[in-house]
Amino acid sequence: MPSKLALIGIRYDENSSFTKGAADAPPQIRAALRSDAWNLFSENGTDLSDDSIFFDAGDIEPVAGSDMPTLIENSLHTLIADNLLPISLGGDHSITYPIVRAFARKYKDLSILHFDAHPDLYDNFQGNRNSHASPFARIMEQKLVKRLVQVGIRTFTTHQREQVKKFGVEVVEMHQLRDNLQLVFDSPVYISFDIDALDPAFAPGVSHREPGGMSTRQAIDLIQRMKGQVVGADIVEFNPRMDPLHITGTVCAKLLKEIAARMLE
Ligand code: MN
Ligand code: MN
Repeated sequence: MPSKLALIGIRYDENSSFTKGAADAPPQIRAALRSDAWNLFSENGTDLSDDSIFFDAGDIEPVAGSDMPTLIENSLHTLIADNLLPISLGGDHSITYPIVRAFARKYKDLSILHFDAHPDLYDNFQGNRNSHASPFARIMEQKLVKRLVQVGIRTFTTHQREQVKKFGVEVVEMHQLRDNLQLVFDSPVYISFDIDALDPAFAPGVSHREPGGMSTRQAIDLIQRMKGQVVGADIVEFNPRMDPLHITGTVCAKLLKEIAARMLE
């Protein structure tokens, strides 16, 4: 049976420390994806306008009294149980922890490929253990994945370097990144893409701009060249309120097309 993707928007930014706005991203990314300014083909010829391979599961968002992490985990579990390959649109990066909890229920040997300017390994940030700066600390201490490979990192603190050692995280810091890098995974891969991995010249619409990042092309090359079976992904931290030129939604949609193409291989 051919595989089928499921797109789900997660309109949640309560764990964003500096500023809010990422909850508004999913409809903007959808609008960019469906724009008449381009087509829905990936570079390798995958056509996302084909309803037999691409299903839009809509958005989830908090309502009064809701437990969003549980709602996120259960929603993703339902999609995975239906044999769909989920792509989640954030939202802040805190959503990745409940998403990966759902994936870990099916995949016992999952690897994560994590694009980010930040390692997001704080034990807690400003007292919040669910902070968008902490999801990978939770994932690693609960041993939800076999490998965590981070690329594009350029904001290490002493504490977070200690966390890397403690959890055995593999890191390609931004200053170490070379254009011929090929990442190889021998177990199912989940791609978590924080859009601030890109240089703010390419993607200014983020809450934490960190210059010195990768180009859109470098990121796409890493995704296309990587060896491994991609079973899920998220694209997080796009903040439309920080995007005066209205270009970052299109960057997210481009990455979505290229990640989707890898998932359908
Ligand atoms: Mn980040
Ligand atoms: Mn992040």
